Amino acid sequence: MKTHVRVLVIGGGAVGVSTLYHLTKKGWTDVALIERTELTAGSTWHAAGLLPLFNMSYTVGQLHKYSVDLYKRLPAETGQDVSFHVTGNLRLATSRERMDEYQKYCGTANTIGVPFEIITPKQVKELWPLLELGGSAEMAAIIGALYHPQDGHIAPADLTMALRKGARGAGAEIYEHTEAVSIEVTRSGEWRVRTAKGGDITAEHLVFATGNYARQTGRLLGLNVPAIPVEHQYIVYDESPELKAYRQGGGRELAVLREPDTSYYLREERMGWILGPYEKGAPARFADGVPDWFGRSLFPGDLDRLVPHVEAATRRVPALEHCGIKDIVNGPISYTPDGSPLIGPAWGVRNVWLNEGHSFGITAAGGAGWQLAEWIVEGEPGIDMLAVDPRRFGAYTGKRYLVKKNEETYRNVYTVHFPDEERPEARPAKTSPVYERLSARGAVWGQRYGWERANWFAPHGVERSDRWSFRRTNYFGHVGNEARLMRERVGMIDLTPFTKHEVTGPGAESWLDSLVANKVPTKVGRMALSHALTKRGGIRSEFTITKIAEQHFYVVSAGAAERYDSDYLYKSLPADGSVGLRNITNTRGCFVLAGPKSREVLAQLTDTPLDNSAFPWLTAQVIEAGLAVDVYALRVNFVGSLGWELHFPIEYAHHLFDALFDAGGAHGIGMVGMRAMESLRLEKSYRMWGSDITPDYTPFEASLDRFVRMKKGPFMGREALERQLAAGIPNRFITLEVHEVRDADPLGNEPLFDQAGRMIGRATSGYYGHAVQKSLAIGYVRTDFATPGTELTIEVLGQRKPATVVPESPYDPENLQLRT
Ligand SMILES: Cc1cc2nc3c(=O)[nH]c(=O)nc-3n(C[C@H](O)[C@H](O)[C@H](O)COP(=O)(O)OP(=O)(O)OC[C@H]3O[C@@H](n4cnc5c(N)ncnc54)[C@H](O)[C@@H]3O)c2cc1C
Repeated sequence: MKTHVRVLVIGGGAVGVSTLYHLTKKGWTDVALIERTELTAGSTWHAAGLLPLFNMSYTVGQLHKYSVDLYKRLPAETGQDVSFHVTGNLRLATSRERMDEYQKYCGTANTIGVPFEIITPKQVKELWPLLELGGSAEMAAIIGALYHPQDGHIAPADLTMALRKGARGAGAEIYEHTEAVSIEVTRSGEWRVRTAKGGDITAEHLVFATGNYARQTGRLLGLNVPAIPVEHQYIVYDESPELKAYRQGGGRELAVLREPDTSYYLREERMGWILGPYEKGAPARFADGVPDWFGRSLFPGDLDRLVPHVEAATRRVPALEHCGIKDIVNGPISYTPDGSPLIGPAWGVRNVWLNEGHSFGITAAGGAGWQLAEWIVEGEPGIDMLAVDPRRFGAYTGKRYLVKKNEETYRNVYTVHFPDEERPEARPAKTSPVYERLSARGAVWGQRYGWERANWFAPHGVERSDRWSFRRTNYFGHVGNEARLMRERVGMIDLTPFTKHEVTGPGAESWLDSLVANKVPTKVGRMALSHALTKRGGIRSEFTITKIAEQHFYVVSAGAAERYDSDYLYKSLPADGSVGLRNITNTRGCFVLAGPKSREVLAQLTDTPLDNSAFPWLTAQVIEAGLAVDVYALRVNFVGSLGWELHFPIEYAHHLFDALFDAGGAHGIGMVGMRAMESLRLEKSYRMWGSDITPDYTPFEASLDRFVRMKKGPFMGREALERQLAAGIPNRFITLEVHEVRDADPLGNEPLFDQAGRMIGRATSGYYGHAVQKSLAIGYVRTDFATPGTELTIEVLGQRKPATVVPESPYDPENLQLRT
């Protein structure tokens, strides 16, 4: 066994071996993998081998597509067959909501380049003659289906062996029966891994790909990895006489069938079937770690949980009735609270990478290994990986939270994934101090990054809940009222979850300046919207940097980016101690007070002059407001009306809230929720970190040129921007007015087409602009289509709608309201 390697992968399932394989593809061959027992001994050996391309996430969709393409070429490359049956994949729909979901997905699939078809019930029957179309009291009628002709199923163990062959052929080492039992950091900053056998391996980089053991391996480094497995079972049936007759009569292998509305999948297996449900009540397992006795084991089958799905499947495919059950496979399947894997750097430690939490790990293995290897070797991934970055979760993912959320995610795998859905488990967890006050005002809550956030406020007598939909729904009018309140009078948003850091010390300014593309403010009271870029020039983070005092900066970023940004900032700190960094997210609250009357309201609480000359737009002052002291008042906001963000010591939350409402009473002040904020910010073409600005686009592509100072000196990503300027900017950010919308606005991830029907870009967000009374989208198109006035089409729920490129900021393009 080697004693030193550049990268050591821990875990020999499909995911770990794929990571090893892809590291060698990137030219890193001094790499090894250790596996505690034998390759595939974890979840990989008992997986059903399905490779669904369907995924609502733009990132995960790309990873799955890469996998499916890779698995088709692997046999020729490695000489190892992987039993890839390209049967196609059929997802049935029995409701309009389900068809909406498919149509929404089709937009994403188009932008990724995944082939699919929406087909009719007649075509379903032609593809799958053994199925009943339904339409009775017992069985809902199929109204259509989504068909992926290019996916199917594979043999997971063979796949792992093919990847193993490829990796070893290129020089990688694999050591089985070698368990990592402890890890320590060496003096040179490398990782020394002690194995159960006694030998040590030291590595520059470590990759954890340990499946169900993720919590245990994480603990070796003090990491609370947010992945806990849930039981998942499938039934293996004996030969089916009907299937046999069909196949012997010349029928081709049937597509993998999914009926999400009754929550099961079905595929052929040796002239019989495999039937896998996603049941209610499947328990999380191993929250405290995998016991020693488990090994290559399974749980006993739980028939009671299976029965409703077996009955539903048997009604749909009566041939199931005539075959006996051969086996029930019930194994642990790793889950995370949002169902997406954890691929990327671990937080708080250097050169430790996670490839954990895979619930579709056979499908994802190829893509997950591909991008993680890219990240390790190049220092960053090749595509936007925010949706799977392990740091999208924070410290709030304790054991009980994970158990509840993961069980919930599992039982919802096949429910309709509405864009406005908010799942109820493990809530409320993190709340702002004014939670009860907002509840008393009718808040309809959502959750993000563990925080409760008011999505909208139900007026007295209005039902306080969402009817989730892909279309305009019950809260549409109320959200409109909130948006207009902010535009016409004064409204307040509780944005306490914002991520907040304090940067101090003699090196603070120059350090921040080296991280972002904009110039960091040099004068006290000035602020700058700034972007930290990747090496490739993409936007990794957005910070509002305010100079509070000499050598003291206040840095605000997205609430959901707390761990992501904090980890980046801490890891980038200079070693000379010249910069102090503190995450003060939980010590300051934030209210946005905005609208034409906001000045009059705030003026009642403070002696600080608020007129334009004393307190201009884009400046900040430390003020007293009522009894609250040390309030950072920032004259900016994300809604585009006159107003202030008030960042106050958290202990003043109740006082400040009540004082602002008392002062605002005469002006009709009211609360405004997240959905109205979405409408308001779209009217101003404000880009949202994570959806509109991501590592996929540079600030030039995002038309944020005014926030880039190419002449200011070196900063991360500058060379890439120079190259892009020289080569020409390929895409540009645009705002679109969407026409002929009746009840479904764009919401993001819609493809954009030119007049000839060629895809030339994608929308990244969309909503109805309540003040401008227009359906709006923002996104990216090829630069030659970005001129205002250009006519395009956008695909919204399967329908091509005409759309016009309009100048930025449909509401108040001159920013007169902001400057007033
Ligand atoms: C019943 C069932 C059906 C499924 N069907 C499908 C499907 O059809 N399609 C699909 O895409 N996915 C499916 N899955 C999910 C899939 O099995 C997993 O997502 C996938 O196998 C995860 O692979 P992995 O490499 O991450 O983990 P694993 O395969 O679990 O591998 C992790 C490895 O790490 C090793 N290890 C752990 N700790 C250490 C240590 N300290 N030192 C050394 N080695 C260590 C373990 O021994 C194990 O071999 C199914 C899962 C179940 C339970």
